[in-house]
Amino acid sequence: MKQKGLLYTGKAKSVYRTDAKGQLIVEFRDDITAFDGGKKDQLKNKGSYNAEASAFIFQYLEKNGVKTHFLEMLGPRRMLVRELSMIPLEVIVRNIAAGSMVRNYPFKEGTKFKPPVIVIDYKDDSRHDPMLNDDLIVALKLATPKELAAIKKTALKINALLVKLLAAQGITLVDFKIEFGRAGKTIYLGDEISMDSMRLWDMKTKESLDKDVYRFDKGDVMATYNRVVKRITKTESPKRAPSETGRKSKEVPATATALKASVKRPVKKSPVRKR
Ligand code: 5GP
Repeated sequence: MKQKGLLYTGKAKSVYRTDAKGQLIVEFRDDITAFDGGKKDQLKNKGSYNAEASAFIFQYLEKNGVKTHFLEMLGPRRMLVRELSMIPLEVIVRNIAAGSMVRNYPFKEGTKFKPPVIVIDYKDDSRHDPMLNDDLIVALKLATPKELAAIKKTALKINALLVKLLAAQGITLVDFKIEFGRAGKTIYLGDEISMDSMRLWDMKTKESLDKDVYRFDKGDVMATYNRVVKRITKTESPKRAPSETGRKSKEVPATATALKASVKRPVKKSPVRKR
C-alpha cells in the first residue's frame, strides 16, 4: 500500500490517494479549530488521540452491524479507509440539550431528549452549515427519502451503541455529529467519531470531556483528550452498561481486548507530508 497525492485538506484532517483502488488514507492532524475556524491552534498529539478514539469506535460499530469506511490503522494518526462519495450532511444526534440547542431554542441546558433529537445541517462552511429539513434535503437532491430514512435509522442505532459504550466508562453522550458517504449504492459511515465531534460529560463531575474544553478554555485540552481515549478504549468490559429493556443485549460488548484483537498490524510507514 503506497500513499499517493493529497486529495483533500479539511480543518483537522488530510485525505490522500493510495495505489489501491477504492482506498484512501485519512491523516488526523494536530490542528484544532472552533467557531467556524475563528479559533485555531495546533495541539501536540491531538491527531493521534482522535484517530485512536475514532478507530476504536468504528470497529465497535462494525462489530455491531454498522457499515463504516474504516479498514485499518497504518500508524497512530493514519487511517486506511474505503473511498466514499461524501454526502454533504452533518447528522447530529442529541440526547441532552447543550451547545446550539440552548443558544437557538428555549431549552434549558441539560434537558433530556427522549427520544433523541436528530438535527441535520448542510455541510457548507461558506453558508455556516445551515439547518435542513427532510423536504430541503430531497429538493437539494442530497439524498432520496429512502436514503434519508436509512441514514436516520443508522444514526439512532449508532447513538444507542455509543451511549452504552460511553456509559460503561462513566461518560454521558450529550450529542455527536456524523457524516455518511456512498460507495456504489451502499451508504457507509465516514469521517470520524472523536472528541472533536462528540459532546461528552463526566457522569459524576459533569465536567466537559470534549472540544468544549478548547472552545471555552475550560482546561488542559490534550490532557482531557488523552484521558478520554484511555477511558473509551479501556481494556476491561463495560460493567454497568445500562439496558433500557432489562433484557440481555445481543450486541457485541465494547471490550478493548475484543476489538484490539481484530486490528491489523500497522503496515510499513510511508512519509507523511507536513502542512
Ligand atoms: P452544536 O450544534 O451544539 O454546536 O454541536 C452539536 C454536536 O455536533 C457537538 O458534539 C459538536 O462537536 C458536533 N459538531 C457540530 N458541527 C460540527 C463540525 O462542523 N465539526 C465537528 N467535528 N463537530 C461538529
